[in-house]
Amino acid sequence: SGVLLQVDKMKTVFQTQSGYIEAVNGISFHIKKGETVAIVGESGSGKSVSAMSILRLLEKSGKVSSGRILFKDINLNELSDEEIRKVRGKEIAMIFQDPMSCLDPVYTIGDQIIEAIKIHEDLPKKEYYSRAVELLQLVGLPDAKARMSIYPHQLSGGQRQRVMIAIALACRPNLIIADEPTTALDVTVQAQIMELLKKLQTELGTAIILVTHDLGVVAEMADRVVVVYAGQVVEESNVIDLFNKPEHPYTEALLQSVPRIETNKNERLMAIKGSVPSLYDMPTGCRFHPRCPYASEICRQEEPPLMNLGENHYSKCWIKEKDIKKVMQNVNHNE
Ligand code: SF4
Ligand code: MG
Repeated sequence: SGVLLQVDKMKTVFQTQSGYIEAVNGISFHIKKGETVAIVGESGSGKSVSAMSILRLLEKSGKVSSGRILFKDINLNELSDEEIRKVRGKEIAMIFQDPMSCLDPVYTIGDQIIEAIKIHEDLPKKEYYSRAVELLQLVGLPDAKARMSIYPHQLSGGQRQRVMIAIALACRPNLIIADEPTTALDVTVQAQIMELLKKLQTELGTAIILVTHDLGVVAEMADRVVVVYAGQVVEESNVIDLFNKPEHPYTEALLQSVPRIETNKNERLMAIKGSVPSLYDMPTGCRFHPRCPYASEICRQEEPPLMNLGENHYSKCWIKEKDIKKVMQNVNHNE
């Protein structure tokens, strides 16, 4: 089937003073070899938490409480901390928004790439060095050899992100999870980094899960899109159908909020009326109903299922429910 990763009804909770709160409420999606799947949503939607859950990179209070995370048929959720550490970097690598927070300021770029190679590979000493130089060349850093001996602060933001990508590629992972990899960069550099990821994907066949709020990036990069709202998948589709015929009102709102390219950076964040609901106070029924222009009585009372609309296009919305009247009668009847 070529499925590399299958996330199945995953729930992620955080322990707080007032008990557990659920940040991810039963999310399912899959990614095939060499594919790019975008996970899209506003900040606070649970998209980053979902990505972090896969590699168990959550903060201490967080954990995956149920569901399966099948990678090459192994349930990552059942691995020990030691075992999951071996998967990280070697099989699945992660790229974050802010490379400075991941790079160590006191070590040279070369040392940090060599360290990444060493974690999973035993090579003769000289080979580490030449592998590291190759990786820097692969990610398009000019003067790769000279860069080996400099420190992170001596690089620009875009160059640091290239180094992070080199580190991510150090062990030839099958899957890269990239969480807002270009959000901190200016538009031109953003485009260059996206070009680089695309090129590497073609050359190396790496699958990419791209976590982003930026629909421009999605249009450029993704094969398939998973739209997340309030910890749930509300729509899933191939990228063309998602842009041409979005089915879920939330997706529709996201698309209407796509900023023009010339607007300044702060305005590039999505703006939809209302805000993402608090984890402490989830709306009943459809979680989007307080912000949805189409909300009706059933939306406030009953959670819609994720419905298959054909051609692997899924939407979690009552609008597509043909028997909406009948269902409403049932709801009324049950009261
Ligand atoms: Fe809007 Fe109702 Fe659909 Fe939710 S189920 S998105 S409230 S129409
Ligand atoms: Mg995030």
